[in-house]
Amino acid sequence: MVTVLLEADSSDTRVLRAAAASLRHYVSFLEVPGQEVHDVVLAMDDSPAPALFRMDRRRGVVVSTWQSEGICLYAGIERGDYLLLCTLLGLTQWQALDINPILVAEDFEHPAPSRCLFSTLPVKQDYALLFEEPHVCPTCLQFYRCLGAEMSVMALQQALRRIHMRHTPLAYAARTSRLLPHDVSNRTPERRQNGRSGGLDREDSD
Ligand SMILES: [Zn+2]
Repeated sequence: MVTVLLEADSSDTRVLRAAAASLRHYVSFLEVPGQEVHDVVLAMDDSPAPALFRMDRRRGVVVSTWQSEGICLYAGIERGDYLLLCTLLGLTQWQALDINPILVAEDFEHPAPSRCLFSTLPVKQDYALLFEEPHVCPTCLQFYRCLGAEMSVMALQQALRRIHMRHTPLAYAARTSRLLPHDVSNRTPERRQNGRSGGLDREDSD
């Protein structure tokens, strides 16, 4: 389990903790600095920043809330889910960095272009398109697993599954071909062909 110390108490950290409640086997959030042992510190920052988060081996993860209201509104994603995904993306990279001393943050730059949430986009508002159907590509999942960030990757996958199931149960079922009535399952190949990015949106199964 990754133990995260929240740098401050705010409405956003409370929303984040509520959104992360089902991930307690993978990641746990501590509120009060002090005696409790933690792996990493998480802060939130609303100053202008182009990325969803930034992270540093020593200082931990900072989630950027700048422009987040507009992104959530456009993409139809709840604020807690947005903050949770940004947190888990940052934690995944931080854990990979923490475990592998020879790596630097620049090693995590995503091959562009992609709809993967690990992509870095030049304009913050453009992330709204990625959050419409939040997704992490199989290459990234494999990459971070190989680097030892298994716990954060599992939390990220579970968070994505939960968001997909809640917001688009049919689309989720079509992608995974699970929990499906037979007639809908038969239409899956057609739906995939019409998808914007073909196999890219497919999620790894467990
Ligand atoms: Zn990716």
